[in-house]
Amino acid sequence: KEPVMRTHNKATSPTKPKNPIDMNAFLHQKKPHLSFVVIGHVDAGKSTLMGRLLYDVGAVDNKLIRKLKRESEMIGKSSFHLAWVMDQTAEERNRGVTVDICTSDFETNASTFTIVDAPGHRDFVPNAIAGVSQVDVAVLSIDCSTDAFESGFNLDGQTKEHTILARSLGVRHIIVAMNKMDSVDWYEGRFIDIKSELTNFFEDIGIKSEQTSWVPCSGLSGEGVFDKSYPAGLTWYKGPSLVKSLENISQSLFDNESAEVTKEPFLFSTFDVSQGTKPNEAILFGRVESGHIQGGETVTIYPSEQSVLVTQILAGNNQVQVPAAIKGDFVTLKVRNAYVEDIQVGDLVAIVGYDIESAQEFSSQILTFKLDRPLLPGTPVMFFRGSCEQPARIKKLVSLVDKADASKIIKKKVRHLGSNQAAIVEIELTEKKRRIPLTTFSQNKRLGRIVLRKEGRTVAAGVIKTLDV
Ligand code: GDP
Repeated sequence: KEPVMRTHNKATSPTKPKNPIDMNAFLHQKKPHLSFVVIGHVDAGKSTLMGRLLYDVGAVDNKLIRKLKRESEMIGKSSFHLAWVMDQTAEERNRGVTVDICTSDFETNASTFTIVDAPGHRDFVPNAIAGVSQVDVAVLSIDCSTDAFESGFNLDGQTKEHTILARSLGVRHIIVAMNKMDSVDWYEGRFIDIKSELTNFFEDIGIKSEQTSWVPCSGLSGEGVFDKSYPAGLTWYKGPSLVKSLENISQSLFDNESAEVTKEPFLFSTFDVSQGTKPNEAILFGRVESGHIQGGETVTIYPSEQSVLVTQILAGNNQVQVPAAIKGDFVTLKVRNAYVEDIQVGDLVAIVGYDIESAQEFSSQILTFKLDRPLLPGTPVMFFRGSCEQPARIKKLVSLVDKADASKIIKKKVRHLGSNQAAIVEIELTEKKRRIPLTTFSQNKRLGRIVLRKEGRTVAAGVIKTLDV
């Protein structure tokens, strides 16, 4: 049993960076950073594609590839060696707390990247939620080989559920990796057919065409992934490779957003916590959700409200020390004066002076998915926000609203919610031992997003509107 949470005295005055840097100059010389997750149906070639990508950009050495090749030949599946690369290079950060998240970093001339993966349970939706809610971009791998698309897409469809989650959790862009094109001889008709069917589905769930890119590729043989050119016969595609597309998106997000970074408060969400080598030293791994941080600054960890001093910031697979981290970066913060036992995965960290509330109840605007049974007041659900997962219940159905414009109330007295309805509801977290730090969607576009599941299925996604209703 988890002990009841203790709270501490939070600091009220900030501390200055130890070796202050000029933030504008730092932003100017920093490569844009992008995080992404690979989603799609089981066997769509996701692991092979990531292995190929990591190998071709030079993030794995030949020795490891030779070892994996030998091992996969031993079991008679030589193509598997690429699929194992991600598992071998990724660092498993989780120590069994809530969900498994592991990340792998790589770098090109133009950008740095973090791939977020949920090892072990690739098809396990809670992990997909945790992964998808922490990234800027989703790479949707589609198996273009004969008949595979139809069986993966039209049946129960992880393709669909993953894509809906990506959309609901605020992923900025979806790159469709039209994968295994080698198996259909890079036939353009196949590409066009699948693209048009997927485009209809994207329209249905509100993904705009400018938020998508389509790249024909083969994870197995490598064309279209990084710099291996397409076979001579393929003349119909002139667009960028998968990695080039990722670089382009990272640059445009950076151009649009880096100016804000200097003005926003520092916010960070925690995916992993461990004890440092010194007493009262904690090691927090997570993502910078807004603003920036430098060594020497004081931050407060919520909900335990302990204020700690950031002594070091580490980044990349090799965890090298960096002078600062900005919004979107995946970094490790070494902090001093910490009560490690009171920190958990899912905790939020903010610069001193920016308070994060913890609430037991909140109001939310949600969109329901396809439901077998309606949602009623009192219906128990699982609440997900990033890597935080909590039992909850629907407390009250406030109103039905217009799907396109939530300020338009369609109906006030609501007895139940059916499939595909937009509504304002009150949600109550039912686990009382530990409060959950929450931010509304207007405070933070990513941390304000939630997903509700029931009996192993995603029933709704939405945003937090107000705390403590
Ligand atoms: P995952 O379950 O989505 O991670 O899929 P895997 O990467 O494990 O691949 C599933 C199967 O498809 C394996 O047998 C792979 O060898 C095969 N495969 C993966 N990528 C390609 C590809 O680009 N072309 C072809 N022809 N087969 C592939």
